[in-house]
Amino acid sequence: MIPYGKQDISQQDIDAVVNVLKSDFLTQGPMVPAFEESITKYTGADYALAVNSATSALHVACLALEVGAGDVVWTSPITFVASANCALYCGAEIDFVDIDLSTFNMCPKLLETKLQKTKSEGKKLPKVVIPVHMCGQPCDMPQIRKLADEYGFKVIEDASHAIGGSCEGHKIGSCEYSDVTVFSFHPVKIITTAEGGVAVTNDKSVASKMALYRSHGITRDPSLMTKVSDGPWYYEQLCLGFNYRMTELQAALGLSQMQRVDDFVSVRHQLAVRYDELLDDLPIVTPYRDSRHYSAFHLYVIRLKLDFIKSTHLEIFCGLKEKGIGVNLHYIPVHMQPYYAGQGFSLGDYPVAEGYYQSAISLPLFPSMSLEDQSEVVAALELLLK
Ligand SMILES: *Cc1c(COP(=O)(O)O)cnc(C)c1O
Repeated sequence: MIPYGKQDISQQDIDAVVNVLKSDFLTQGPMVPAFEESITKYTGADYALAVNSATSALHVACLALEVGAGDVVWTSPITFVASANCALYCGAEIDFVDIDLSTFNMCPKLLETKLQKTKSEGKKLPKVVIPVHMCGQPCDMPQIRKLADEYGFKVIEDASHAIGGSCEGHKIGSCEYSDVTVFSFHPVKIITTAEGGVAVTNDKSVASKMALYRSHGITRDPSLMTKVSDGPWYYEQLCLGFNYRMTELQAALGLSQMQRVDDFVSVRHQLAVRYDELLDDLPIVTPYRDSRHYSAFHLYVIRLKLDFIKSTHLEIFCGLKEKGIGVNLHYIPVHMQPYYAGQGFSLGDYPVAEGYYQSAISLPLFPSMSLEDQSEVVAALELLLK
């Protein structure tokens, strides 16, 4: 089976992890700050916080932006459930803005319309909006920033797919247009730490709050303490935090992987361009390109032109699987999940996302994918679509 995504681990990555195993620190040592520094250097953001997953990063980001009961957070329905769950963890409500069918990202026009409507009806505006750079394709961040300033919401970029990409020349993670940006390092993503994530920000106080929430709400920084120190052992718990720390092994792997982030993304682009060419005359829509941005190309998602195909979406998907092509579907719209039905959402709420779901297929794409593998994927698709 050719998988849809796969990590790329070098001997140098392995050595980096083994060296940590032989060192004094398996957690809370020098590797986490070194990894964080590699992320700030790369993205240009002032602060980076490594945590044990992007899910945790989204949670601490929401907490640091003071999302709580009575607040509303908006995100895209075409994302992994974690982009929405983080608001619910904080006791806030979640709502969605439908996608643009060409980019698969939250539609900035629908966002503006929904903001206008919410305001004119006197309803609660979102405290935070979480755009998701779906497939690594940057959202229209300048427009989202403009709306954030106009309507007074904060922005968390869910860039789980997008390290290595850039938006109008600004590296994703520079936080040029947002308060916090979150990356995921799950093995299928651009770089990996096995499990892991990072939250980056240019706001010192947000960074310091996220650091507290990452580690039980505890600080050893005298400038943050509210009482006089009892002695050298002294620390204070200032809020109710969690244990979301990344281990030294993970950070060492991440630091080593960061040396190849640009190579990973450029190979993804080469493969994507080749897919575009090879799939050109098939009844499908290939991924959107925007010359203003640089996608990280986490996923190569095609949409079937079902009016021109005899088979159904399900038949094509299963046909590919039978031929050993490990296709996937990113994503089932979040509002269609049974849990979200319990949150008051139902079928028909976000028709563009639902239409996308009925026609999308993620084709295999990963840095070590061979040209033969890719030709096999194309041949299988050709056979099924003819
Ligand atoms: C993978 C992913 C997450 C969650 O990342 P984890 O590191 O697995 O917690 C969140 N949002 C999106 C869009 C993702 O793809």
